[in-house]
This record gives sequence, C-alpha cells and structure tokens, in this order.
Amino acid sequence: MERYESLGPVGEGSYGTVLKCRHRDSGRLVAIKKFMDSDDDKAVKKIALREIKLLRQLRHDNLVNLLEVWKRRRRWYLVFEFVDRTLLEELEQNQSGLDLNTSRQYMYQILRATAFCHQQNIIHRDIKPENILISQGGVVKLCDFGFARTMASPSEGAVYTDYVATRWYRAPELLVGDIKYGKPVDVWALGCLLIEMLTGQPLFPGDSDLDQIYHIIRCFGNLTTHHQELFYRNPVFSGVTLPECSGRVQLHQRFPTITPAALDLAQSCLEMDPERRAQCSELLEHFLFTQDSFHIRYISLCFPFLQLYVISSYKNTTFSI
Ligand code: ADP
Repeated sequence: MERYESLGPVGEGSYGTVLKCRHRDSGRLVAIKKFMDSDDDKAVKKIALREIKLLRQLRHDNLVNLLEVWKRRRRWYLVFEFVDRTLLEELEQNQSGLDLNTSRQYMYQILRATAFCHQQNIIHRDIKPENILISQGGVVKLCDFGFARTMASPSEGAVYTDYVATRWYRAPELLVGDIKYGKPVDVWALGCLLIEMLTGQPLFPGDSDLDQIYHIIRCFGNLTTHHQELFYRNPVFSGVTLPECSGRVQLHQRFPTITPAALDLAQSCLEMDPERRAQCSELLEHFLFTQDSFHIRYISLCFPFLQLYVISSYKNTTFSI
C-alpha cells in the first residue's frame, strides 16, 4: 500500500471500501478494493477469494482489469485500473435517461462483457448500474465479481443457494426461490438496465420481494406455473397469496416513446420463463445493433486491426473463389 498514495474513497461496498489511489512512481490512477478483515469473517474470505479467482480468469475489454493482489494484516487488497464513473452516477445526473445512441453503445458493451462471462460458464449475478463503470471515452467495464460464480455441471445438480442479488434487477426465478437458475438471471438484469438507461428510472423498484413480484406481474402477467408452484412451496411466502394480475400495463404502454427496436430487445431479456429468454450472443446480433451497421462501426472503432484482418481474410476468400 506504501507504493500508492490514497486520494480518498470512491465506493463503499458490503465487504470493504474502494479507494482511488495514485501509484507513487508511475502516477497511474488505480482503484484499490480493500476487503474487511477476512480471517474473522468466513463470508468475506469466500467473496474475496472468489472475486480474485474469477478476475484472474476473465480478461476482456469490457471487464474491469485486475492489476495486482496482495494480503496484508488479514485483509485482501485488489488493485484495478481506475475507471472514471459508474452508470449509476451518470443516471443520477440524467434523471430523464440517456439518449438512444448512448444507451445503445453502453448496452452493446455490457452485453459483450456478459456474453464473454457466459462463454466462460460464469454468471455475474449482480448486474446493476453501480457495477457498471464508464471511462471518459465511453468505454464500459463491468465490475464486482464478488457474487459471480462458475456454473456447476448438471451432474453436480447445479443448485445454488448462497446468494442474494439486488432486488430491483432480480429475475422471477430468484424471487420465488428457485435454486436451479443460470445465465438467464443476468439477461433479466440486462433488460431492466436497458429500460432504466432509456428512462432514467428503475423499471421495477420493488420495496419488498413480494412487491417486486407484483411489479413484474403487473407488466408481464402471471408467473409461469413452475414459478407459482415454487412460490407456494417457499416458507418465506407461507400464508401469502400471489397477487392477481388485473389491469396489466405492458412495456410499450408504459413507455410509448421508447423505439420498437429497443423495446423488443428489452422484451427478449424480460421473458418470464428463463428458458425463453434470449442469450447474450443472440442479443449482440439484435436489430437494435445491426439496423445501421452499428455493430460493425463499433468493432472498427475499437479494434481497427481486427477490422483490417477481417477485411483482408474476406478478400482472400474472394480471391480464392
Ligand atoms: P463491493 O463488492 O464491495 O460492492 P464493488 O466492486 O462493487 O465493491 O465497488 C464498489 C464501488 O466502488 C463501485 O460501485 C464504484 O463506485 C467503485 N469502483 C469499483 N471499482 C472501481 C474502479 N475500477 N474504478 C473506479 N471506481 C470503482
């Protein structure tokens, strides 16, 4: 820590503090995540070790880059590249939402990050505006892998119990207490996020788990039969009846000014049945991104050499025909 000069806290997480620091020799700005004493608290230790393991495995332009790690006096320190602001801060400054093009650029990059995690069989499990960092140049970096985990193989039963995601972004399967969930939980959160970027307001701001379910039912109708069964079997909801869906207000009625392409993408993320939710790799090919070759311009802007390579290999193919 002596090699860094602290410039003050930038974030307070549930398991520690994030400090903005400057490397004394190079002048490089970093964010240092300082976990609480991890020997006393097993949960902190588990979360820190999980985050370190996953971040070492995950390297991508749209994921926050881990630079170094150390443990001192029973605390873990994680050093990251410093990223300017969070999406939450940007939304707080733009209470009526971001314009379509900015939202689309951010959404595309968040999808790239999530698709990459899913390809590695990792679910993030806590996608929300606080965990999306945005650099001055508009590059998006997904952070906070403290809740992320590698998916168990079907032979292991794929049962997860140890986690509570931020309520507003929680998929119906999590709310009813399904312990067999997977990558679609991240896709649901992405749908909530897209609408929030476009409107500046959280899509489903439930103030309890039941109220959260109510918000969802009011928009999309009744829970699936399987989710209803899980709800009535869940002791947390014992004696509680599921809210009846009367007077449904669908996404396009609630947000008449959102373009059909953006609404369609959100709707594909917000399917009640996780099996029917789109996958991130499919969503990257959605009309919202392909309609004016946005995705090709994005790739050529960020990766000019890759674009050259694609063009030259394409040309080679053409010549050989
Ligand atoms: P926790 O797991 O303790 O919640 P996070 O990783 O989510 O910690 O970080 C908490 C906050 O710290 C973020 O919401 C953000 O405001 C800030 N932060 C995290 N990483 C960085 C970073 N690399 N650059 C700048 N700020 C960051």
